[in-house]
Amino acid sequence: MNVFDHPDFDHHELVAFKDDQASGLKAIIAVHNSTLGPALGGCRMFSYASNSEALSDVLRLSRGMTYKSALAGIALGGGKSVIIGNPQQDKSRQLLLAMGGFINSLSGTYITAEDSGTGVADMAVMGEKTPYVSGVISGEEHGGDPSPITAYGVYRGVVASVAHKFKSDLKGVRIALQGIGNVGFHLARQLVESGATVYAADINPANIQRAVNQLGVIELPLEDILSADVDVLAPCALGGAININSIESIKAKVIAGAANNQLATADMGDALKQKGILYAPDYVVNAGGIIDVYYQTQGIRDRKKVDAHVERIGDTLKTIFTRADQTGSATSRIADELAEEILAGDVKEMSA
Ligand code: NAD
Repeated sequence: MNVFDHPDFDHHELVAFKDDQASGLKAIIAVHNSTLGPALGGCRMFSYASNSEALSDVLRLSRGMTYKSALAGIALGGGKSVIIGNPQQDKSRQLLLAMGGFINSLSGTYITAEDSGTGVADMAVMGEKTPYVSGVISGEEHGGDPSPITAYGVYRGVVASVAHKFKSDLKGVRIALQGIGNVGFHLARQLVESGATVYAADINPANIQRAVNQLGVIELPLEDILSADVDVLAPCALGGAININSIESIKAKVIAGAANNQLATADMGDALKQKGILYAPDYVVNAGGIIDVYYQTQGIRDRKKVDAHVERIGDTLKTIFTRADQTGSATSRIADELAEEILAGDVKEMSA
């Protein structure tokens, strides 16, 4: 495995590997870019099929964090870490302490946060070994579940996308959610409250049942959700929902959801453009959590301030949509372009 020649390497500033035999920790920390501030990104624990799959994941995700924070207008760089292992079977206090030590060895170049496979309690254990855990305010306080604020940002993203595409609000708009877990549930509630008709599918029967019973969401079969006859598709499960197999059958005219890496490959963004589908770039839409974490790292606990910042996601999308209309480029390409401009210092901030 040659790291420098890796297709996702993209000039990472630092990639660190840890193999701690005593605890069983096998982990990678990737710092993509720290131009705007220390690299902050979640710590994912997953039973990767191979070490190279873990490396690809951490490189792709850390680059995504650079772009996400740049377009969110926060002074953070992009980084990510992965622990190779099954969070249900392999996680132990000793392993988490070793991960905390690994993070600490980088002296704040990388700040961690919870992600898929890790939670608030895990962050607290890592925090025994390092202050570089997001949400640490007084040395022992850690941020809570970021899903509600992420969902609020996605909601504002859906509102802005629907306004741009259909020149309407959400009343009577039909929206399909692939995945109705933590973010999906909070998002669905806000969509229903705004008068939208919400459909959803989830591989977890308990999650779909909760949404049907508590929110009046309409259940669709898993295999029909991406091709549902709706106005908006909101991928809120895993990455790669928009791929060579699914793209032809998508009927929605807007895609705006919480999942990271929704486009299986970059050219899917161009294909969506050609099909007349307005794509709200994932890392713009799902930045609510990182914005909240940023305020925590600054010791600011002012809900109104955080909400107001998250609401700017809608303005950022408008800027992207307008430039995409003017240039004929895919919205995903424009978002990357704008992020690069911010990193180069050509644009001060996206949506002040
Ligand atoms: P979650 O695990 O709580 O929810 C995901 C849901 O998707 C689960 O209910 C799961 O059963 C379901 N699911 C998985 N595969 C599916 C499939 N093939 N079809 C239908 N449903 C499927 O996770 P979450 O915190 O709600 O995050 C959702 C997405 O948003 C993830 O991609 C995550 O990386 C991204 N995201 C989350 C946050 C956050 O604050 N939680 C922030 C940014 C991005």
